[in-house]
Amino acid sequence: MSLTVWGIMKKYVVFALSFTLLFPVTSFSAIKKPATKVAAVKKPVAKKSAVKKVVALPSAKPSPTPAKDWIDEGDSCDIAVTNTVKGYPKGLQTMDWLKCDDKTKKYIYIAPPKLDPTKPKQGDNCKGYSGIVEGYNHNFELVSLACNPTNSTFAPVVTIPTKPPLTTPSVALSDSNMFANLDKCKIIDGDSQTTNMTAGFPIPYGRIDLIKGAKVQIIGVDFADKAVTGKSPKDLNQNLADAVEKFWTAQSSVPVKFDWNWTPDWLRMPNPINSYSLGGSFFAGKFNPDTYFNFAREVISKTDSTINFSGVNFLFIVFPPGIKSEEIGTFMVHTQGTYSTQEGNILNLIMAGGDYANADTYIHEFGHALGLTDTRDTVDVGNQKSDGMFYDIMNNPRYPELLVWHRFLLGFLENSQIHCINSNEPTTHWLVPVASESKQVKGVVIPLNSTEAIIVESRRAMGFDTALSVSDNLMGAVVYTLDSKIPYHRTPVKVVQVLKNSESVVTNGFRVTVVESGDFGDVVKVEKVTN
Ligand SMILES: [Zn+2]
Repeated sequence: MSLTVWGIMKKYVVFALSFTLLFPVTSFSAIKKPATKVAAVKKPVAKKSAVKKVVALPSAKPSPTPAKDWIDEGDSCDIAVTNTVKGYPKGLQTMDWLKCDDKTKKYIYIAPPKLDPTKPKQGDNCKGYSGIVEGYNHNFELVSLACNPTNSTFAPVVTIPTKPPLTTPSVALSDSNMFANLDKCKIIDGDSQTTNMTAGFPIPYGRIDLIKGAKVQIIGVDFADKAVTGKSPKDLNQNLADAVEKFWTAQSSVPVKFDWNWTPDWLRMPNPINSYSLGGSFFAGKFNPDTYFNFAREVISKTDSTINFSGVNFLFIVFPPGIKSEEIGTFMVHTQGTYSTQEGNILNLIMAGGDYANADTYIHEFGHALGLTDTRDTVDVGNQKSDGMFYDIMNNPRYPELLVWHRFLLGFLENSQIHCINSNEPTTHWLVPVASESKQVKGVVIPLNSTEAIIVESRRAMGFDTALSVSDNLMGAVVYTLDSKIPYHRTPVKVVQVLKNSESVVTNGFRVTVVESGDFGDVVKVEKVTN
């Protein structure tokens, strides 16, 4: 949920901040165990919700032992009834996971040797779009976790390899030649106010065409009181560049190019970090755009004689890890300025400030430099909302696979991968999952007029959308509308309905029905309806 914030200087700046500020991951909660074991004191026994089997209390107990309704390490267990359960490890006053040992038939503590307390565990409470995070499953193995919205607890995501469909549908399909003329489906940008990004054709001037290639110059900057020793800017940031390249490369069915250029050393600013007045939360109104722009220009002027900026279309200014929001408060993407160098102008800038300069933020902000707009409600920057869209990195990092509309807009698809409805006769289309590595059809566009369309695509838990494996209601054929006139701060794309097999929906005079569904994606029928 990164948010691009459209400030009062609308013509000049787009700021972007990470959603991680808004949706913090809750940490572990500990339940205090009574210090004295008194039978009359009821001690809670937490059942592990993911385990369907009933928690078995110790069956045979010597008669003097009073009954208790909690489980301690060493209690008897039946492996056929219980595998893991919350209980009290020996010597601990807090509950943790115990497992039934099949040799001794007693509960044993399955404490991991080292557990990073900053990482969540399966079953921990979570909320909203916390993205895919690294955490522990019940066996304390490091896995990818996502927040299951139905019970607001972390669950392991099932990674499904991105492969071409293994099977094919049996339903007869319409002739693809009927949909090959894409002209009417190149819905134009209808928002004349927003000039640096768009929901419609064409991509604005200055944005990066990833097919031609992104040439990124990265300048590492440190400060007199934040000096880095022993590690280069690349050493400390390459994982982020890799994440950006991996994500955006995977979104395209045609080859894209990245050219990363790193300064070998940190540019040491002569004064303490706080003297540059870059601190303070954007949400608290502490962001001063001119200070950021001037800082970027100062960095360029100090490096212009040593860096060859020829062909560079994206400048990243990065800082050492551990910078706090009070020091540099805002992760800024600026696509409305001109940064002059001896070799030419650069029109896309990222200044990776704040303590939330993570991969999700970079990937989202990179999308702005390609020309994409935010597809969420950003009216209240501190309380952004999905606004009826649930997919795509420009909406949230949880189901980040790009909408087929964005792929079409960015030139990421072969022409044959979009079906454009050019007539009123009923048609049938096989849509492979949008996240699949496939050159087959990924979307149907039903143009309504020059600025509006209905779009259908297929979503599965594949690729970067593995968190869908815990959000079944968002898997299926997704029918959504595009209205490119909707101005910035609201999403121009909105989900009408996510259809399972044999379900249908009518919107804007068209009925869309799923007539077959499988691991191959969805077969959808499109019909004009008359009232
Ligand atoms: Zn944004």
